[in-house]
Amino acid sequence: TATVPPAADVVVIGAGQAGLSAAYHLRRRGLTPATAAPTPDGDGPPSGTFVVLDGEAGPGGAWRHRWRTLRMATVNKVHDLPGRELPEVDPCAPSREVVPSYYGDYERDFDLPIVRPVHVHRVTRVDDDPRGRLLVATDRGEVSARVVINATGTWTKPFWPIYPGQETFRGRQLHTADYVSADEFAGRHVIVVGGGISAVQLLEEISHVAATTWVTRREPVWRDDEFDPDAGRRAVALVEERVRAGLPPRSVVSVTGLIWTPTLRAAAERGVMDRRPMFTEITPTGVRWADGTEQRADAILWATGFRSQLDHLAPLRMRGRGGGIEMAGTQVVAEPRLHLVGYGPSASTIGANRAGREAVNGALAFLGG
Ligand code: FAD
Repeated sequence: TATVPPAADVVVIGAGQAGLSAAYHLRRRGLTPATAAPTPDGDGPPSGTFVVLDGEAGPGGAWRHRWRTLRMATVNKVHDLPGRELPEVDPCAPSREVVPSYYGDYERDFDLPIVRPVHVHRVTRVDDDPRGRLLVATDRGEVSARVVINATGTWTKPFWPIYPGQETFRGRQLHTADYVSADEFAGRHVIVVGGGISAVQLLEEISHVAATTWVTRREPVWRDDEFDPDAGRRAVALVEERVRAGLPPRSVVSVTGLIWTPTLRAAAERGVMDRRPMFTEITPTGVRWADGTEQRADAILWATGFRSQLDHLAPLRMRGRGGGIEMAGTQVVAEPRLHLVGYGPSASTIGANRAGREAVNGALAFLGG
C-alpha cells in the first residue's frame, strides 16, 4: 500500500514483531484495510478498518539493521509470529536477512495493510472527548484514529550514557546500533561498555582482531545453564510490576543474566572477559578510572542498550510521577485509546506476540465489539 488513509478505526504504528502480531489479530477479528476514501465518523461497532504505518523501507522492523554477524544461531530465539512458523533455516544465516524475509512473506500471505516508509511525528488528541479521535501526524499526511496501537520498538532510540570528558575524546564513539563489523577495528584498542548480551557478543567478536577492555557498571551475573524459562518468567513479572506501578521499565534480558556459551568460555580463557568497573572520566586519548589508572583507546563502543521509542507520543503526556507510564496490561491508564506493545515486559519476540493479541482484544472492547 502506498497511501496513508485519512481515517481508520485502529492505527498500528510500527511493523516489527509486535506490530505484525497486532495486525494479524485485527485481520482475524474481521477488520479490513482502511482505504484512501474517508470513512464515516460514527461510533458503530468495529465493522472496522485498520492500517499499519511503518518507518522502514521494507519488512523486518529492527531486524533489518542487526549487524551482519548476528546469525540465527547467535540470536536468543526468534519466536514464530502468530499463525505462521518461521521456516527451517541455516543457523549460520544472518538474522538480518532471515527475519525480514519471514516478515515479508507473512505480510503478503495475511494481506496486512502496511504503508511504508511512513514516519509518525506525533499523536495528539483532537478534543477533550475521551472517546473522541486521536490524530496521527506523519510525513505523508494525517490519519484520524479511534484507537492507536503503538509498536515502535527500541532500535531507533539507542541509550548513550554521559560521562565527563566525553566530548574531548579524539577516537571514535559508537553505539551497538551503529556497529557494522569487527574489521573496522583491526589492530586498534576498543573499550566495550555494557553488561548485556550484545556487549559480550560484540566484545568477543572484536577481540579476535583488536585489543579490548570490557567495562560494566555492575558485576555481570553469569549462569552456566541454558536459558531457564522460569527465570525468564520471573524477570518478565518483575518488569510488569514496575510498569503497573508507573515506573520506567527495565530490560527483561538485563534481569535474566548472561550465559556461558562455549565461544564466551574460550574468550574468557584468552582473558577477554576480565571485566573492569566503570571508568569515571573520558580523556582525549582514552578513559580514566577513579583510582587514577588510565587506558588508551581508539574507540569506545557503547553497548548500553536502548529505550522505548515513544517520542511521537509525548503530546499525550502519559508519564506519571514515577517517570514511567502506568499501564493496565497493554493499555495506557492515562489514555485508554492507546496501547503499547513490545514495550517493557513485552519487549521480546514472544512478549510482542502476546501483547499484540491483548491490545487487539482491548481495542475491540473499547470500540464496542
Ligand atoms: P522493532 O522490530 O524495532 O519494530 C519497530 C518498528 O517501528 C520498526 O519497523 C520501526 O521502523 C518502526 N518505527 C519506530 N518509530 C516509528 C515512527 N515514529 N513512525 C513509524 N514507524 C516507526 N528478542 C527476542 O525475542 N529474541 C532475540 O533473539 C532478540 N535479539 C535481539 C538482539 C538485539 C541486538 C536487540 C537490540 C534486541 C533483540 N531482541 C530479541 C529484542 C527485540 O528487539 C524484540 O524482541 C523484537 O524484535 C522487537 O520487536 P518490536 O516490534 O517491538 O520492534
